[in-house]
Amino acid sequence: MRITALAGGVGGARFLRGLRRHLDSRDDGPHDLTIIANTGDDITLFGLRVSPDVDTLLYTLGGGIHEGQGWGRADETFALQGELAAYGVEPQWFGLGDRDLGTHVARSMWLAQGQSPSQVTERLAARWGLPEQRVQLLPMTDAFVETHVVVEQDDQQQAVHFQEWWIRMQAAVPAQRFVVAGLDRASAAPGVLDAIRSADVVLLPPSNPVVSIGIILLVPGVRDALRGTSAPVVGVSPIVGGGPVRGHADACLKALDVEVSPSGVASLYRDFLDGWLVDPADAASFSGPAALTVRDLPLLMKDAASTDAIAAAALDLALTLRA
Ligand code: GDP
Ligand code: CA
Repeated sequence: MRITALAGGVGGARFLRGLRRHLDSRDDGPHDLTIIANTGDDITLFGLRVSPDVDTLLYTLGGGIHEGQGWGRADETFALQGELAAYGVEPQWFGLGDRDLGTHVARSMWLAQGQSPSQVTERLAARWGLPEQRVQLLPMTDAFVETHVVVEQDDQQQAVHFQEWWIRMQAAVPAQRFVVAGLDRASAAPGVLDAIRSADVVLLPPSNPVVSIGIILLVPGVRDALRGTSAPVVGVSPIVGGGPVRGHADACLKALDVEVSPSGVASLYRDFLDGWLVDPADAASFSGPAALTVRDLPLLMKDAASTDAIAAAALDLALTLRA
C-alpha cells in the first residue's frame, strides 16, 4: 500500500511515527509512506537555513527527538548559542542546540554547494534511517519560501516572520493574515504531486490547519491533486474539546475567521476531504457536509498506544472508504 501524508512539525510527526508503527504491525505489508512536509516555517538564523518541520519529522521518525518538548534533539546542549549570546548576537528567542545545529550546518553547506532542498532532505533522511523504514520525506517545494504574518503594531501593518510571531510574540498579537513569500515562484518539489495522485490512501495528520497543512495546500498543484486523486483523503482533527492541544492553532484560525472546532477545520478541507476523525468531546457539536464520513475516538496522542490507535483508525476509515 502507498500512503501519502501532508505534515507540519510536532503533531504531524507524532501521528506519523504512530502510523509507521501501526503499518509495521499489520501482516499485509510492506507499506510505503511518503510525507510532504511544510517548509513555510523555514528561517535563516546566523547564516544557517533552519527547516523546523522537516527536522521535527526527521528526529521523531529517526529516534533523536526530545520527547518531552516534541521538537529539537534529545540530550541537547546549548554551548554555541551561549557563545553567540555573549557576543550579543541576535536573535536569542529561537532555541538552537548544538546537536540540532549540526543539521543546520550540513543543510546550509549542501544548499550552498547547489543541491536542492529535496536532495538535502534525502541526505539528512539517510542518516536518520528513513529509507529503511520505507519512509520518503519530501519538502513541499524546492523554492525558497517563508510564511510571514501581517500584524498591526502602533497603528501600522507590518509583516514579521512566522517564527517571530509564533515564538517571540507567542501569537499574542492578532494575526491579520498570513502571506507566503516566494510562493508565486514556487512549484511542488519533485514527486509531491505524483505521491498524491498515485497514493492508495492520503492522510492529513492533526497538524496545524492554517500554518502547516494550509501552507502546503497553497503550493501550486497540491490542492488540485487532492481534489483529483482517486485515493480517499482522511484527516484527524487537531482541535480537541474546542481548543488546540498545543500551540496557537486557535489564533491562526481566528485570523481566517474560521471557527475553532473540528467543523471549522474540516471546512478548510471541504473540497477534497472524504473522512474525518473527531474526539468524542466534539462529536455532538460537529456539523459538516453529508458526504463527509465522520468517526469519533479519543484523539489525544498521550503515549504510543493512544497515538497508534488514532493512526490505525485513520487508515481503517480510509480503507473502508476505498472499498
Ligand atoms: P508544529 O509545526 O510543530 O506546530 O506541528 P503541526 O502543525 O504538525 O501540529 C500542530 C497541531 O497539532 C496543533 O494545532 C495541535 O492542535 C495538534 N496536536 C498536538 N498534539 C495533539 C494531540 O495529541 N491530538 C490532536 N488531535 N492534535 C494534536
Ligand atoms: Ca511548524
